[in-house]
Amino acid sequence: MDIITLGELLIDMFPAEKGKRLVDVSAFIPKPGGAPANVAVAAARLGASTAFIGKVGQDFFGEMLRDVLQQEGVDTRGLRFDADARTTLALIAQPNENNEYIFYRNPGADQRLRPDELDRDLLSNTRALHVASVSLTDEPARSATFEAVRLAKQSGALISFDANYRPALWRNEQEALAQIAAMLPHADLLKVNELELELLTQTSDVEKGSALLASRGGKLIVVTLGAQGSYFHSASSKGFAKPFQVDAVDSTGAGDSFVGALLTQLIKHDKNNLDAQLPRALEFANAAGALTLTRRGAIPALPTASEVREFLNRVLPKIGVLGVDEE
Ligand code: ADP
Repeated sequence: MDIITLGELLIDMFPAEKGKRLVDVSAFIPKPGGAPANVAVAAARLGASTAFIGKVGQDFFGEMLRDVLQQEGVDTRGLRFDADARTTLALIAQPNENNEYIFYRNPGADQRLRPDELDRDLLSNTRALHVASVSLTDEPARSATFEAVRLAKQSGALISFDANYRPALWRNEQEALAQIAAMLPHADLLKVNELELELLTQTSDVEKGSALLASRGGKLIVVTLGAQGSYFHSASSKGFAKPFQVDAVDSTGAGDSFVGALLTQLIKHDKNNLDAQLPRALEFANAAGALTLTRRGAIPALPTASEVREFLNRVLPKIGVLGVDEE
């Protein structure tokens, strides 16, 4: 397998009307969601072989989510079904640039993935494993996530970690910070956005914050900067990767598209020798992220490899190679 993602696979409930308060919305429309699952689909669309590991309820939504992954070519042999808990629902309360969520997860099936349910064979035969922090909020999924990382790392896989901080899912901020800090030393790649960088480092200075995260054990730190593109910091190089201009209609899924795209590029190379690849890989990931903004929704908006290539062929000759500002 090229890339396995592990974590939440759930239903995002989108409000029928934009800009209304939760209680004033007339209806909610169910759509497949969950950041790690989106990353698996993003990378599959870009041509990687991918698998998803997680747990959904033995219910209508769980089956629908499995079918969506399978239609996208994501291997679901590591997906488990829970007879005693429902598929998690996320009601989107404020449909604006920074969506806020109310999770129906008391507990949801995704929190109940156990270490003994992991497909060990799958995890021992992958080039990369991508996880995030939502599966670290509660046991037993927390132990299952750490165990999956241990197994994949033992077989030489690149470990990717998206901080993906969702305050509503944690009992308190301290616990979230402690769990993210505990995963950091295992990660070959840590991806944060600007808000997470500030939360983890108490600075909004991208260069200082990234250096601090690297000093805490992250080998490669990548910061997504929305319309400003992205930034990377590794042991021997760092720099900003410039953004692409697009007509944005919906930012949902841009970060997951970016991560999926970045992983498809990084797995082509030795994980201990990625420095030379980073400018190109981030350029590709920025393009995939930007393209995702031009369409609505998360999964429907994720671009294919040929769409990213065509986009790069169209825009790069006009604007010149964007590349990276090295320092
Ligand atoms: P997240 O906060 O989920 O990590 P971002 O919103 O920063 O995700 O988007 C991920 C990537 O998508 C960015 O690093 C950038 O490359 C691209 N992107 C996001 N917003 C824009 C935008 N308005 N214009 C161009 N590219 C964008």
